[in-house]
Amino acid sequence: MKLTVDAGKCCGSGQCVLAAPDYFDQDDDGIVVLLADEAADDAAGDVEEAVFSCPTAAIEIVGR
Ligand code: SF4
Repeated sequence: MKLTVDAGKCCGSGQCVLAAPDYFDQDDDGIVVLLADEAADDAAGDVEEAVFSCPTAAIEIVGR
C-alpha cells in the first residue's frame, strides 16, 4: 500500500509513531516524517492502526 502524509494537518500527537514506528517518525518540532511511502503487506495492520489513531487525519493510504 502507498502512503502519504500531510504535515500541515499534523498536530504532533505521535500516535502514528507508536502504531507503526517503521513508517513514521517525528521531526524536532514533533511533526510527522514519513520514513517509507510504500508499506509491506505484513505491515498493513500497523499502518492502518496509525491512520485510524491519527487525530487530525493527516495520514492517507493512497487509493482508499
Ligand atoms: S498521529 Fe497524526 S497528528 Fe499525530 S504525529 Fe502522526 S500524523 Fe501527526
